[in-house]
Amino acid sequence: MRDSYTEFANTGLGRKLTKSLGLPQPAKLRRYRPGAPLIEGPVVVVGDSEASDRIAEVMLGWDLDVRRHLESREEAAAVVAAFDTTSSPEQLSSEVLAVGRLLKQLKSSARVITVFRDPQETEDPAVRAARKGVEGLTRSLAHEMRAGGTANGIVLQNELDAAAPGFAGALRFLLSGRSAFVSGQFITVGSVNGALPEDWSKPLQGQVAVVTGAARGIGAAIAETLHRDGAEVIAVDIPPAGEQLAAVANEISGTALQLDITAEDAGERILTHAEQHYGRLDIVVHNAGITRDKLLANMDASRWDSVIAVNIESQLRMNRAFLASELFNRAEATVGPRIVSLASTSGIAGNRGQTNYAASKSGVIGMVSATSDQLQARHGSINAVAPGFIETEMTAKIPLVTREVARRLNSLNQGGLPEDVAETIAFLASQAAGGTSGLTLRVCGQNLVGA
Ligand code: NAD
Repeated sequence: MRDSYTEFANTGLGRKLTKSLGLPQPAKLRRYRPGAPLIEGPVVVVGDSEASDRIAEVMLGWDLDVRRHLESREEAAAVVAAFDTTSSPEQLSSEVLAVGRLLKQLKSSARVITVFRDPQETEDPAVRAARKGVEGLTRSLAHEMRAGGTANGIVLQNELDAAAPGFAGALRFLLSGRSAFVSGQFITVGSVNGALPEDWSKPLQGQVAVVTGAARGIGAAIAETLHRDGAEVIAVDIPPAGEQLAAVANEISGTALQLDITAEDAGERILTHAEQHYGRLDIVVHNAGITRDKLLANMDASRWDSVIAVNIESQLRMNRAFLASELFNRAEATVGPRIVSLASTSGIAGNRGQTNYAASKSGVIGMVSATSDQLQARHGSINAVAPGFIETEMTAKIPLVTREVARRLNSLNQGGLPEDVAETIAFLASQAAGGTSGLTLRVCGQNLVGA
């Protein structure tokens, strides 16, 4: 779906006109392209804790131009600020103001990343206030970023330090173009599970993934992205979508499995297919989903029941089958099976006409957090991704004016692309994200509506 306004706003005339009229100025976002540098330009590390040294070391290991200071005429590509030792709100000042001084010297699509400890892990009111303070300032800064820039945080739990593989994985994701449409969000790293890939351009090499609802839209983009990152992909969709499904599977040298995921034995059929074709299954992406919108006053049983059946009941049933199978449970050292599920910002903020859909998507968020311990015990992970306004066939059907408003109501003033959701899923499916589990990560450009 074309976004003609964003195209116009990025022409010479468009830039002038939108600025003089005070209209939204959506920037062309920096997106991941294989072979392109991770990020171009200096990355400034703010803070003087041990973690800040470790953060600098990690990034030097990626050959980045890591600095402690920036000359007045230079521009930074990213700022990483360590708040891991901050123990009262008054201590925030020096690092926060140091970040503030750098903001006018940022390149387009720049990144600001804060690093801090989990507020819930302390009972000390001043310490928790300081940690919550970092959350609040990061979210507000994300609203203030310009020219496609984003601000996000990494939350360290359980005494972990920046040496945990999951930390490096989250840092690299947030610096890269893979996180183009992620802003105002937090990635929690809670365990030393996971591992960094030998080749960052093929983080899923040797892995086998299943993607449901892969015949079109976001699911097709996920299948393509997992394949690009090195995975073998089983593409699943309903029989009526068989032709489109075969085309997606052929394109990525994967295999197609025609299957309605609400079938009682859907999980078993996926396991049998994986066993027969690949002899393993490492990654499950629960993407298939439907909407049947109606105000609750007009809701009928078929609309309600079908949305619950496809969007959440099927996932619960399939997960039980996967977790009971030997194929999916082979923990290799600190790397086990991974599940990523599609939620929605409607499941967080609610949406008019979507009681059924929001119940199913909130259900996904609950299911993911409640299943996390089981996956962690297998050195694996389960997480959800909550997309906001994404340019797909689904959102193309929204009436013009409503669509135009919905598109602009986020900090990046534009809709996301299916590939933005797919990149975040590929990250959460990778071993580099093994330290993160039970999380729902929003890919919404920091929607201004709702949560
Ligand atoms: P889409 O309708 O374009 O594609 C969904 C796919 O799932 C289709 O190919 C469909 O045939 C398949 N499917 C439906 N029921 C199935 C079943 N019972 N068994 C197997 N396959 C089935 O949707 P999309 O926009 O690509 O959305 C993908 C996911 O992302 C969904 O879970 C959706 O709720 C979620 N999401 C989308 C957006 C957005 O803006 N597009 C926003 C938030 C969340």
